[in-house]
Amino acid sequence: MSDDPSRLWSPAEDAPVRVRVPAKVNLALCVGPLGADGYHPLGTVFHALSLHDEVLAAPGEPGEVTLQVSGETSADVPVDESNLAVRAARLLAAEFGTPELGVRLQLKKQIPVAGGMAGGSADAAGALLACSVLWDLDTGPDDLHALAARLGADVPFGLVGGNAIGRGRGDQLVPLLSCGIYHWVLAFAHGGLSTPQVFGRFDEMLEQGRASSGTEVPAEVAEALAKADPFALGKALRNNLEAPALDLRPELAETLAAGRAAGALGAIVSGSGPTCAFLAESESRAMDLATELGRLEQVAATRRATGPAQGARLL
Ligand code: ATP
Repeated sequence: MSDDPSRLWSPAEDAPVRVRVPAKVNLALCVGPLGADGYHPLGTVFHALSLHDEVLAAPGEPGEVTLQVSGETSADVPVDESNLAVRAARLLAAEFGTPELGVRLQLKKQIPVAGGMAGGSADAAGALLACSVLWDLDTGPDDLHALAARLGADVPFGLVGGNAIGRGRGDQLVPLLSCGIYHWVLAFAHGGLSTPQVFGRFDEMLEQGRASSGTEVPAEVAEALAKADPFALGKALRNNLEAPALDLRPELAETLAAGRAAGALGAIVSGSGPTCAFLAESESRAMDLATELGRLEQVAATRRATGPAQGARLL
């Protein structure tokens, strides 16, 4: 616990701490073959988007972590101890707090569940920040990053946001400088895709020579970001998990093709899918693209977003 009187934040009684956390799309997701450790090595470029979940943390009964979930995408989110936000709060209390700490967490979800946009990881990152403030813990960015990496490979990026290269399991981050704002359209599918299932299909397809692997991130992605060139970025997008995601959900190929035909500069399955992400030349082109994609039967909803967005932030 901190007794530093210079701390700026002082909670009004029972007022929740509010944190906003971004979804991500992988501009490049380069996946190596399954290693002996049971993990796939990755080289990836994360890009945070202005599609957010909100994590609220209010004082709770000693030792208790409770959770409520609301919002556009709250169905199918577990509210028990398996929820990543609950796990994050428990881990933080165990490592930096005391058994008396308690919290009432609330998630306001907009990020699709099992959509390949790291929504659960974002919530975990948000819960780490919100609880560390609520409990007034002496945790610096490095402490939170280390806890985040223990919770999941995508969680550290939820803390930092922006653009970052991720290596290892995706948790070894190097921020990537970029200029410009990119306009995206996201096409959500009906239902999610299980990430382990997509990796499983990737392994099978690799054996059959139907998918490609490799952890080398294409230089074109970083070059396009440095030049603020959406045309080059659209051409440089890569995802080794796209083939298995399309194999499991063939209708996604039609979604990608429709977006390209409607003028997207680039079209890609986001992470392990099934969300498809389309890069647009401008905000107005993104609006047109969203209208076109929204007409497709296999598209449950569309959202426009810009990137890069900030990582977890106190509101
Ligand atoms: P991944 O990060 O594994 O690629 P994803 O981004 O595709 O996953 P998530 O929304 O993180 O998808 O959900 C994956 C699974 O995690 C869900 O099916 C759900 O059972 C579980 N889960 C745990 N905590 C959360 C949470 N806070 N929000 C959403 N799902 C959660």
